[in-house]
Amino acid sequence: MALVQRTDNTLHATHWQGAIPLNYRYTAGRAGQKFLMHLKDKGELLATTCNDCGVTYMPAAIFCERCLARLEDTYEALPARGEVHAVTVCHEDYRGTRRDEPSIVAMIRVDGTEGGLLHWLGELEAKEVTIGMKVEAVLEPAGKRVGSILDIRYFKPVG
Ligand SMILES: [Zn+2]
Repeated sequence: MALVQRTDNTLHATHWQGAIPLNYRYTAGRAGQKFLMHLKDKGELLATTCNDCGVTYMPAAIFCERCLARLEDTYEALPARGEVHAVTVCHEDYRGTRRDEPSIVAMIRVDGTEGGLLHWLGELEAKEVTIGMKVEAVLEPAGKRVGSILDIRYFKPVG
């Protein structure tokens, strides 16, 4: 099936194999930029709060998803700690190549906030991870941070 062919039955849909060269630049947006630069400079997570809805967004957002209120006056720094909300173990990388050691990826929620960060867990075995486990970020040293989410190396269990 060529790309321009149309199918009327989704059961007959197929896929196309090949490579599409893409050049792009990801922008984090105003709130995302502040979030990443604060992580770089202070090693903390930046959140914003909607005073009307009482919702705190982490990572920070410039508007409330519920009422669309502007939140740019409500930035608040939070410690880079949270708890495991969901977890999965990856035995292959994104290209499908088998890993020597599986990686543990978790959704980390920060207390009292909505949203969260998808990131690696470290310094533990997959069988030790529990939902609700308290974790904290292991950061790159202050002088080596570049303003990327990878300034957090991984999250490790607290204590
Ligand atoms: Zn709101």
